[in-house]
Amino acid sequence: MSRWQELELKYFMRTVERLPVTLIRGRGARVWDENGREYLDFVGGWAVDSLGHCHPVVAEAVTEQVQTLIQASNQFYTIPQIRLAELLVQNSCLDKVFFCNSGAEANEGAVKLARRYGKHYLNGACEVITMTNSFHGRTLAMVAATGQAKFQQPYLPLPAGFVNVEYNNVEAIKAATNSQTCAVMLEPVQGEGGVNLPSDNYLTAVRRWCDQKGILLILDEIQTGMGRMGTLFAYEQYGIEPDVMTLAKGLASGMPIGAIMAKDRASVFTPGEHGSTYGGNPVACAAGYATLKFIVENDIAGNAKRVGQYLASRLENLKQKFQFITDVRGHGLLLAMEFSSDIAHSVVMDCLDRGLLVNQLKPNALRFMPPLIIGNEEVDEALGILDKALSTIN
Ligand SMILES: *Cc1c(COP(=O)(O)O)cnc(C)c1O
Repeated sequence: MSRWQELELKYFMRTVERLPVTLIRGRGARVWDENGREYLDFVGGWAVDSLGHCHPVVAEAVTEQVQTLIQASNQFYTIPQIRLAELLVQNSCLDKVFFCNSGAEANEGAVKLARRYGKHYLNGACEVITMTNSFHGRTLAMVAATGQAKFQQPYLPLPAGFVNVEYNNVEAIKAATNSQTCAVMLEPVQGEGGVNLPSDNYLTAVRRWCDQKGILLILDEIQTGMGRMGTLFAYEQYGIEPDVMTLAKGLASGMPIGAIMAKDRASVFTPGEHGSTYGGNPVACAAGYATLKFIVENDIAGNAKRVGQYLASRLENLKQKFQFITDVRGHGLLLAMEFSSDIAHSVVMDCLDRGLLVNQLKPNALRFMPPLIIGNEEVDEALGILDKALSTIN
């Protein structure tokens, strides 16, 4: 254990099981630890580093902004947040933006917006239907929205107003809808919950139901957005448009930011009803603007699609080779590999030893969410390491 790791043990609350590596710096899809060891990074800051580590356009935008204006009250206009808002609206089906600092905060705001909508248009309806195996964040209300017992049990009682129903089952949504329902909130593809894809026509059926009932469809695109799925936003691939969408993770390529986006008709906050001290922070928004502009101008979503297909095909090859790989699934550069037993941790550790960072999605599954700027060479390198690590099993 290094000096830093000893200090961490002494001073930190034990909220996370860290891997025994202290990262010092990063560049592109690579990071280096305190001993100068290099790793290929297929975790990407948890699907955050969309342009990789310290991308020049992001580093330059941040550097210029910290020397110009770091923070100002939202009582004043600041330019970076307005530029980012315009670019987000121009490149999505939504009309209005609210900026905050994280995914959970964005989802909290989206639920407040839906309740506000319910007060205006649905006789005070305030309940939000969410899905089992979802993940919407760690605040108390988002733990209530997150349909996974392990996140909820330690914190009972949870805030009221959420109903968790089975994912990929539109009948369950219909059965849970009543006069109190103001919105359905879901991830188009579930990330933390297992990289679970929507079944055919599920999202269109949910969209149709929301239209029929006049309730809002909130898409949590915090993990799937910003090009990771092969289109700028996942909804584009399923032939639907949300009324409200939340973003965070990849939006500013590593700077902390979150956003709620809404169609005009769902944009019902009035002054004073919602806010965030740091929301729309000029430095985070300058990073977001640089990130989104680069993604759009260089078709980074197209790259994620092409390289994602290649990565998926290479993972499929491993599945042919190793009997204990039971499933490969996902889309774009959000992919998972499942095993017949709980070997994910040992595979992660073995990959780490060999210079590759991968995420343990579940005791029996890995997740791959590398920066969106990688090419086939990085995939070949990562898969070479993974192949060796899997070859040591049993
Ligand atoms: C990570 C994540 C969140 C929570 O984001 P934080 O920034 O950690 O609060 C919410 N929803 C989804 C789909 C996520 O992947």
